[in-house]
Amino acid sequence: MAQISIRDQIRRLIDLQKIDSDIYGLKEELTRKPILIGELKEKFEKNKAHLNELEEKLKKILLGRKSLELELKGKEDEHLKANTQLSQIKTNKEYQAKIAEMEHIRADQSILEEKILIAYDEADAVGREIEKERGVVAQEEKRYLAQKNEMEDQMTLAQDRIKVLESQRKQILPDIDPHCLNRYERVLMHKSGLAIARLQGNSCGGCFMNVTQQQINTIRMHDQLVECEMCQRILYIEDDL
Ligand SMILES: [Zn+2]
Repeated sequence: MAQISIRDQIRRLIDLQKIDSDIYGLKEELTRKPILIGELKEKFEKNKAHLNELEEKLKKILLGRKSLELELKGKEDEHLKANTQLSQIKTNKEYQAKIAEMEHIRADQSILEEKILIAYDEADAVGREIEKERGVVAQEEKRYLAQKNEMEDQMTLAQDRIKVLESQRKQILPDIDPHCLNRYERVLMHKSGLAIARLQGNSCGGCFMNVTQQQINTIRMHDQLVECEMCQRILYIEDDL
């Protein structure tokens, strides 16, 4: 490779940086999107879990009601039995006792009937809540799947774009002095994908710390690559190129 001036090296590094910044952004997107998808999934799963809880609750109410109804049926049998016994009773005292027992069974029945009615009301209320929640979950699932699909499409696009950019990058690399490239790539790796930064006023465009006048003068001389003392990014002055 013929000797390339520092000015040209910097121009080429700036071109390379444009590509690398795009690649960096896309890779960030590829890291971020699955996390977002995971968060949406978690939210959706939570709604679903709530629905499952309601369904469990309804199941319990129905089971409880069923056992109350069986109990009620048992009381009815008891009452019938007592009624049959009544005709065989000889003494008045026994008769009174049997009547009291039957009244007691009736009282138990009416308590059970009350409980069964309450269970019906509860089942109705939970049933309505389930109906509503099913609608919400179905809606949420649709929304979650649509967002997931959209993000997955965007990720595919990003991957394709990265491939294109990486091939563009490969084409530029031979034009850059290996030592400059080496320095550039080392910084690129450690400094959030930004290796060469424009001087903004007296500040480094990468870390925004002040750059000394002496360093600015050195940059203007264009006989070496100058790096920011704070962040090690290569510095350049835009209207000086
Ligand atoms: Zn800096």
